Amino acid sequence: MFEKLKNLKTYEAGKPIELVVREYGIKPEEIIKLASNENPYGPSPKVIEAVKKNAKNMHRYPDDSFYELKEGLSQKFGVEPKNIVIGAGSDQVLEFAIHGIAPKKVLMAGITFAMYEIYSKQVGAEIIKTPSITHNLDEFYELYKKHKPEIIFLCVPNNPLGECLDAKAVYDFIEKIDNDTLIIIDGAYQEFASYKDKNKEIKPKDILKYKNVLYTGTFSKAYGLGGMRVGYGIANEYIIQNLHKLRPPFNITTLSLTAAINALKDQEWVEMGIKNNFIEMEKYISFAEERGIKYFDSFTNFIVLFIENSTEIAKALLKKGIIIRDMASYGFSAIRITIGKPEENDKLLKILREIS
Ligand code: PMP
Repeated sequence: MFEKLKNLKTYEAGKPIELVVREYGIKPEEIIKLASNENPYGPSPKVIEAVKKNAKNMHRYPDDSFYELKEGLSQKFGVEPKNIVIGAGSDQVLEFAIHGIAPKKVLMAGITFAMYEIYSKQVGAEIIKTPSITHNLDEFYELYKKHKPEIIFLCVPNNPLGECLDAKAVYDFIEKIDNDTLIIIDGAYQEFASYKDKNKEIKPKDILKYKNVLYTGTFSKAYGLGGMRVGYGIANEYIIQNLHKLRPPFNITTLSLTAAINALKDQEWVEMGIKNNFIEMEKYISFAEERGIKYFDSFTNFIVLFIENSTEIAKALLKKGIIIRDMASYGFSAIRITIGKPEENDKLLKILREIS
């Protein structure tokens, strides 16, 4: 029993605030969580208002067609509702696609979002990774020709390293790939990348003409709704119809739906968060440069610092109630820090300067 899962690891989620409260006896309001790339500003106050107002309807299933949400996304992206599937986080859309295809082989960057590998192994796929840890499309193409994987994952920008391919490079790559390989463009952090550099902006409507490209996006990052679990996939109708075959009924909650619909209506809030993200990121860049610490130019809401003794540093921060990601499990000493609010970043950096 469960033979197929023998070599599967469970996803290692960022430590929850509750765990630090229990283990270190620190008050929840004193804990700074910068480990899961959440939006430190949270959702728009208008979203909170709308969710409160609709709370009385939580005994009702949501509108399973997600009509209003799809309308909102259609307007945002210039696509039609028939080109959209909604998931409980974009994780679930990835799951639909991978389980729906049940590939024998998949191809991804040397270090990229862990769920690609986990979902693929669940269906017994062989995982092929590029030698480079960041996205190198020449390597992708060589390995594509050699292995003919049924799915290629491009994480644009990439979690956990933060680098980002240019949109043009992605489009040129798509042209070289046959229709029987699905290319998944994971745009979980696209709002950040396209704000920082227009050359990084992938427009989902531009990929509809391809029979083999799926774009995924999420409300968990720029929209501040990680806890509500809402994501989406955009593709041509054939792909979307097939993904719907795997979707369980009512796969997001009534209140998640309310939250996502209203989050789309407050773009000003989203832009405020993104703008502050890059202003605050400069503080970490200054720290790294001052100490000669290597870092990747980040197009996301987190930054990776190649700092020595990352495990000890992460532990020392945790004892002080600050949760970040140690990246030692990737085989190098680095930490990934989600960019927080100004006071959170200042506190973290003050401690980092003391202990490193
Ligand atoms: N893709 C990437 C690259 C991510 O970093 C994440 C979240 N960590 C996801 C997808 C999934 O996000 P969600 O399920 O919250 O939409």
